[in-house]
Amino acid sequence: MTHRARARLTLEAELRHAIEHDELRLHYQPQVDLRSGKIIGVEALVRWQHPTRGLIAPGEFIPLAEESGLVGGLGEWVLKNACQQIRAWTDAGIAPQQTAVNVSAVQLSRGQLIVSVKAALQAARIDPEQLELEITESFVMLDREQSFKSLAELRALGVRLSIDDFGTGYSSLAYLQQLQVHKLKIDMSFVRGIVTNTSNALIVKAVIALGHSLGLEVIAEGVEEIAQASYLHMLDCDVMQGYLISHPLPAEEITRLLVSYLPIDIPPYANKGG
Ligand code: C2E
Ligand code: MG
Ligand code: MG
Repeated sequence: MTHRARARLTLEAELRHAIEHDELRLHYQPQVDLRSGKIIGVEALVRWQHPTRGLIAPGEFIPLAEESGLVGGLGEWVLKNACQQIRAWTDAGIAPQQTAVNVSAVQLSRGQLIVSVKAALQAARIDPEQLELEITESFVMLDREQSFKSLAELRALGVRLSIDDFGTGYSSLAYLQQLQVHKLKIDMSFVRGIVTNTSNALIVKAVIALGHSLGLEVIAEGVEEIAQASYLHMLDCDVMQGYLISHPLPAEEITRLLVSYLPIDIPPYANKGG
């Protein structure tokens, strides 16, 4: 066996252990309404508190979890914990309208997702509308028929659906309409240059128009600067998420933020010339 293959097997065994022994953590990042400046949602983002390597970002273990079949158990853990957090926030009277959870295309194509979602909602006794599932565009590349079926079932259950990283995949516009999702998330690669790069600005403008014409809410991710927020507001984008408001934070810290947060004032966009 090569060194790489062995390292991979070790990591896989460690990840399996991590899921079973509570080494995963959820951090939450706020989503802010661009008109009111209020927090209307949060996104749950998983991390792995590794005993020796410290906090590991999802980009380093989600692909492995998907390839090794561990993503089902991982996804169940995330759903269960996020729903319990929603329950706690609801009891405290500070729950945002939605809490979004990322769902892997692999989970969706296996048809097991609906079972996990139902179980998590019931165990936490929360309203399905409080939960939003973020699905990346690439899911259409896997088992399309099963994925469509799963999405229809989830929609019927009452959970909200959002297309993550929109603009980077291959989803056709016909699918988009068929899917009947609630929200489009414009990928941060387009948001990044929005103020300085004309073609990025045009893409963002077009996605917002497309989303709105389909009756969808549009959220921009990766918003780091106030000028980007002003620009998005000018383009009639609905919601933003990014370091400008907050990095993803552990539950206790985001809870404090939900309690103390004052609506951000977004100034009108001022073109600084050039
Ligand atoms: P994503 O769902 O598109 O999440 C956005 C990523 O951008 C997060 O990275 C977040 O921390 C980061 N981010 C947020 N605001 C900013 C900003 O203003 N600037 C920049 N540069 N980055 C920002 P993270 O937490 O490392 O997650 C990466 C990806 O891992 C996620 O992308 C998602 O696809 C996946 N992921 C995270 N949690 C889960 C999970 O529970 N299940 C599954 N299946 N995938 C997950
Ligand atoms: Mg996401
Ligand atoms: Mg994204």
